[in-house]
Amino acid sequence: MSTVKRTTKTSVGGEQQPQQENNSQMTAAQLKEVEDLKKIQPANEFGGAIGTAFLIFLLPVLVYWLWVSMEFNQGYLLLPRELSLAGFQEVGATLYEKVMTHAIPTQKSFTIYACWFLFQVVLQALVPGRNVLGTPLPGGKRLPYVLNGWRCFWITMLAAFALVYSGFIKATILYDNFGSILSTINLFAYVFTVFLKIQAKLKDEEERMSGHFFYDFWMGFARNPRIGSFDLKLFCESRPGLSLWVLNNLSIAVKQYETFGYIPLSTAMVCVFHFWYVADFHFHEEAILTTMDIVTEKFGFMLVYGDLAWVPFTYCLQSYYILRHVDANGSPLNISFQYALLVLAVKAFGFYLFRWVNSQKHAFRRNPEAPIWGKRPEYILTKRGTKLLVSGFWGIGRHLNYTGDIIIAFAWCLPCQFDSPAPFFYFAYFTILELHRCHRDHHACAEKYGDDWKEYCRRVPYIFIPYIF
Ligand code: NDP
Repeated sequence: MSTVKRTTKTSVGGEQQPQQENNSQMTAAQLKEVEDLKKIQPANEFGGAIGTAFLIFLLPVLVYWLWVSMEFNQGYLLLPRELSLAGFQEVGATLYEKVMTHAIPTQKSFTIYACWFLFQVVLQALVPGRNVLGTPLPGGKRLPYVLNGWRCFWITMLAAFALVYSGFIKATILYDNFGSILSTINLFAYVFTVFLKIQAKLKDEEERMSGHFFYDFWMGFARNPRIGSFDLKLFCESRPGLSLWVLNNLSIAVKQYETFGYIPLSTAMVCVFHFWYVADFHFHEEAILTTMDIVTEKFGFMLVYGDLAWVPFTYCLQSYYILRHVDANGSPLNISFQYALLVLAVKAFGFYLFRWVNSQKHAFRRNPEAPIWGKRPEYILTKRGTKLLVSGFWGIGRHLNYTGDIIIAFAWCLPCQFDSPAPFFYFAYFTILELHRCHRDHHACAEKYGDDWKEYCRRVPYIFIPYIF
């Protein structure tokens, strides 16, 4: 059995420590796995070279379309005819002007975003956290991470509150500069992806490349790009986008207070739900280390744009919609207390499923012998050495965590009621995302685990809803 010795040291949380990884020796199979990553791979996801070229330019357009529909069309989705040049001439010349004046990046938007991004970098780099190792990568290597998300999240929220309270910034600063900050981030996302490409090339960290420019730009280059011990992918997945989403919501809520004299119950619910989701994410931050995004995906435009722009600027559309979708008297649509309770019940059910399914897998990966629902868990020991859980939620459905997340997405849209399909965009998009993600994960696992995956699918035949799908 051929082996490759490694004797590196890594810096974890600022201390020099021996790398507690099982990458000190690679088996022949692991070595082959690593070598295979360097081979050219077919461009067969997301519509291949053409599909991804389209997505790289379409995604920002989609975000602008949603924002413009909210801001300038009372939350009704602008139709393609209204957005066409002819449409602009017919009804929208002023719309065009408005969009241009609101969406051009400004010195202010650059300053806001630069301060924001750097502040998040400083927090990630300096705030103490738990030192943990990630899941084994091809070759058996495990990367060290410092998990300080919970503290960083609260420091961010307190800092934002302090800046507003002291009068240094206006609470509506994010809403007031929504379009120009969005444009700034759009530009940054392209530049940052180019940086990732150059970095991966220089450090010879590119893997699973196809040779198609747009496809690789979209899918990414290196799996876990780092600057020293600073993990760029974990940072972008967890920090600048998620907290900005929460703050965008709060900024819009304050705008509602200024506009209507109160914050509607519907907005309060949306803000609390989103805050809860992001706070929960940070509280269970370690669980991200076993997700597809961290373990499998490379870091490219898809994740960069998703993390930095898509999440903070489309996930807050429900509160934006409630602000702009007013009745003839200028009052927002509100909801009854009974309706709010119903929405809360849907959200609580979705959240219960989402949280416990994810936590069950994570706890199992940490300690496969720990009881699940009072019993010793059953699992399939794969030829790769990892274990596939077939007890608890993971014995009922293969992706009940996605089911929970989709129910949560629906609950977030419900406070907006049914006047316009626009606020349900998130639910529609998220359902498609999860179906597609499930399809990709299934193929990745089938490739990774071969017959073991077939056996798992035989034992757990349903994916989202037991006995139905
Ligand atoms: P999962 O957490 O389900 O991870 C899938 C991986 O888990 C598989 O590739 C496999 O990897 C491992 N696995 C699969 N089945 C089993 C099993 N039976 N036992 C043990 N391990 C198993 O999915 P994601 O990473 O896609 O998502 C995690 C959560 O994040 C989900 O709830 C999702 O909804 C949410 N999410 C939310 C987003 C948002 O924008 N709100 C965006 C994306 C995700 P391996 O065996 O190699 O470890």
